[in-house]
Amino acid sequence: MNRKIKLSDIGEFGLIERIRKGTVTQPDVVLGIGDDCAAVVLPATDLLLTSTDLLLESVHFCLDWTDWFMLGRKCVSVNVSDIAAMGGTPRYITLGLGLTQNHPLDHIEQFFAGVRAAAKNYDVALIGGDTCRSPGPLFIAVTILGSIPPAEMISRAGAHAGELLYVTGTIGDSALALAMLQRGEHPPDALAQRHYNPVARTLVGRELARHHLATAMLDISDGLLGDLEHLLTASAVGCRLDGRALPLSEAFAAFLPNDPELLNLALNGGEDYELLFSSPAEKSVAIEQLSATTGLPITCIGTLSADPAARQITDHLGRVLDLPAKGYNHFRD
Ligand code: ADP
Ligand code: MG
Repeated sequence: MNRKIKLSDIGEFGLIERIRKGTVTQPDVVLGIGDDCAAVVLPATDLLLTSTDLLLESVHFCLDWTDWFMLGRKCVSVNVSDIAAMGGTPRYITLGLGLTQNHPLDHIEQFFAGVRAAAKNYDVALIGGDTCRSPGPLFIAVTILGSIPPAEMISRAGAHAGELLYVTGTIGDSALALAMLQRGEHPPDALAQRHYNPVARTLVGRELARHHLATAMLDISDGLLGDLEHLLTASAVGCRLDGRALPLSEAFAAFLPNDPELLNLALNGGEDYELLFSSPAEKSVAIEQLSATTGLPITCIGTLSADPAARQITDHLGRVLDLPAKGYNHFRD
């Protein structure tokens, strides 16, 4: 019905009014969309966690492949993932949008339907944002606000030599789906879903924090090895990583025998949004139990060592790899 309506027909404030009307109110949001600032009630003794992600057309998403609903959902999920990576509870999001003047309104409405679906899923409220005209590519900036009791927060810096290194879920699926899409192929649904609809590991992140099971943690957004490097550097430890233990999905593993280079995608491909964390060996039973109760695989992939320069990484056949860490780096790749 809205197909012919363009943003220029309703203007900035018409759009904001539509966003406001579509947003559900929550009791802890004292002031939501519509005033100069939003005002929310914070848990009295918690720390405020906040993080921002930019998503740029042609850099993070390509409208040839991504539909607007999925894009809206994904930009919330990837932000929530940063809160999960601290062990926190996601609570609020704000949304900055740069849109072209003749953008069809129904795209924007589908985008917001995706934002709302994800917000509902993670129980977060959209409380504000900013909307501007972009002369060129679309851009989206999502800020997430969350909270955590101070004693539970898991930074990247708390890992010790001798601890085990774990990863949730499976890795490489999103990167393989993207590689196939870029070649004009149709990835199997199991892989495509991981690319279009990444799911932030909020429950496992929160449980790891609540039960003090992880000493350092981050989410894998730029590739396992690159993000591992951040944890090792922040904690001043080295690592031994066993490629035979890498958790690969059935769909991913099916492609591996014909193309051993694919292992690079599992090690360096981006957008897994799985959690990578360190944990003392005596917590391993509790971690197995957490995996069983949540139904999410949590796999030990290596150990941490005292020499901060040590990197011993083997491939899926146990052969030592001579790899520089290579996550995605915006100004270098
Ligand atoms: P101001 O001029 O004070 O910055 P705006 O006119 O930009 O206010 O925005 C009006 C209200 O609409 C504010 O509460 C703002 O947070 C909200 N808002 C603007 N753009 C968005 C958006 N893209 N998503 C959610 N809320 C928005
Ligand atoms: Mg403004």
